[in-house]
Amino acid sequence: MAVAPRNPKLDPADEALADGILADEQGAQDALTQRLRPMLERLCARLADPDDADDLVALVLYQILQAEARLMSAWDRRSPLDVYLAVASARSCVEEHRRFQIIRAVGVDTPRPEADTDHPCEADLARWLSSCADPAVAAHAERCRRCARRVALARCALGEE
Ligand SMILES: [Zn+2]
Repeated sequence: MAVAPRNPKLDPADEALADGILADEQGAQDALTQRLRPMLERLCARLADPDDADDLVALVLYQILQAEARLMSAWDRRSPLDVYLAVASARSCVEEHRRFQIIRAVGVDTPRPEADTDHPCEADLARWLSSCADPAVAAHAERCRRCARRVALARCALGEE
């Protein structure tokens, strides 16, 4: 298996956390939860009614932890882990909030959307947020409203706005 190129400036704590999740190490999930929780709280406070925000945080956290190995293996290690997690959290919060509203209005469960391959992946957008995107990703992100919204929400998750 090819070894992904490593960013020499990458925070060793970020790599240790990702490697810990991928190796299913004890304590790694708790560490990931501690990174995610403040981001999810900011996002859900922005997206949901105050009465729903805590439930939405719990739901999104559960969804992300269910997919933690896939999430970590898709991080390309060229942006800080927190930036990548913020982009992934933004997508998950928007999706779960939308499902939440549909379930409440219609009373039936609704499937999650398929992964959207027409837009840059989360690792690509995280690099754009970190000012090291490929030109094609930068060009897309600057003209796509959907990606712009995701980036704005990721900034919110990071406490930058
Ligand atoms: Zn887009």
